[in-house]
Amino acid sequence: MAVPVLDLLRQYATIKSDIDAAVSGVISSGRFILGPEVQAFEKEIATYLEVEHAIGCASGTDALQIALMAIGLRPGDEVITSPFTFVATAETIALLGGVPVFVDIDPATFAIDAAQIERAITPRTRAIIPVHLYGHPCDMDAIMAIGRAHRIPVIEDAAQAVGATYRGRKVCSMGDISCVSFYPTKNLGAYGDGGLIVTNDAERAALIRRICNHGQYETYKYNAVGVNSRLDAIQAAVLRVKLRHLDAWNEGRRSVAARYDALLTGSGAATPPVAEGCTHIYHQYTVRVPNRDAVARALHARGVGSMIYYPVPLHLQPAYAALGGRVGQFPAAEEAAREVLSLPVYPELTAAEIDEVATALRDALEPIAVQS
Ligand SMILES: *Cc1c(COP(=O)(O)O)cnc(C)c1O
Repeated sequence: MAVPVLDLLRQYATIKSDIDAAVSGVISSGRFILGPEVQAFEKEIATYLEVEHAIGCASGTDALQIALMAIGLRPGDEVITSPFTFVATAETIALLGGVPVFVDIDPATFAIDAAQIERAITPRTRAIIPVHLYGHPCDMDAIMAIGRAHRIPVIEDAAQAVGATYRGRKVCSMGDISCVSFYPTKNLGAYGDGGLIVTNDAERAALIRRICNHGQYETYKYNAVGVNSRLDAIQAAVLRVKLRHLDAWNEGRRSVAARYDALLTGSGAATPPVAEGCTHIYHQYTVRVPNRDAVARALHARGVGSMIYYPVPLHLQPAYAALGGRVGQFPAAEEAAREVLSLPVYPELTAAEIDEVATALRDALEPIAVQS
C-alpha cells in the first residue's frame, strides 16, 4: 500500500462545496485585494488566536520581514533565533541587513534552548525569534522573561503552530508580535501563498498595516517605507472556510500521532515527546532514527512517503557562510539534522495507512536494531 507524505486533495474533497462557493463569491464580488473577506477573516482569526489585532499579508516570510521592519530593525542589528528552522526565519533578518545570531536547540522539542539565549545577547540584540517547530510550542514563559528583562521584543514564528497551546495560552498570543504562514501544506493552509502578523499593541498594528500597503496612511500619502504584501481576498475566503475546521483537523493529527506513538514503541525510532502543559498540533510528526537516509530510502522503496525537515542547519548553509558558522558549533541542531524523519500525519490518513507506515518503519529499523 502506498502512503503519500501529503495529500491536500483529500481535505479539499471534504469541504469542496463550501470552498467552491467562497471562491466564486469573491470572483463575483469583483474585490480581489483587501476588502470585506480579508477584514472578516482577520477578525475571526484574531478571536481564534486570542489576540487583539491580526493583519493579513502575502506569505509567512513576508510576515517575518514586516514584523522586523515594524520593530525598526537596522543594518548591523542582531536577532537571536534557531539554526534548526525553515530558512525564512534567518533570511528575513539578513535581507534587512540584520545579523542572525543562532542559539542551539533543546533536543527534546527541537526548539531554541531558552537556557542558552541569555549568553547570546549583546548591546546590538534587537529581537528574539523563537520558532514553534513542527507544531510544538517553545518554552514561552522562559523566553518572554528574558525578553522583558532585557527589553528585547519577542517575535513568535508560529508558521507551523497555529492552534497549539502553551500553559493554556494560544501560540501567537504570547510574543510581542507573531507571524503565521498559510502556505498550502501548513495546518491552516490557503490555496496559494498567504500570511498573517498579529499583535496586541494597537499602535504597532497600525504601523504593520501601513507597512503591508507601501507605508500608505491616506490615499497616495506615505509615512513609512513599506512593501506590497497583502492577503488576497480569494485566499481569505478559503481560509474563513478552513478556520472553522482547524481544531478538528488538529485533533485528527493528534489521533494519528497517538497511534504512531503506540505502534512505534520499542521500534528504535524516538517518537516526539510533548512538553508538560503543551498541546502539539503535529504540523510534522518527526521521529529520530539511526541511519536516517537508509531508513528513508527503505520507506520510499515500499511506497511510504517521508520528508527531512531540515537536512542542513542554517549555520552550515552556503548562503549564510559569512556568519562564520562551523561544524560542531550547534551540536544539538546538527544531530537533529542527521536523525530527523517526518512521517505522513494529515488527519485524513486511515488506520490501515498509519499501520502501514509504522510497519514499514519497524521493518526498516529491524536490521539496524539487530546490528547494534
Ligand atoms: C513555512 C514557514 C515560514 C514561511 O512561510 P511562507 O508562507 O512559506 O513564506 C517561515 N517559518 C517557518 C518556520 C515555516 O515553516
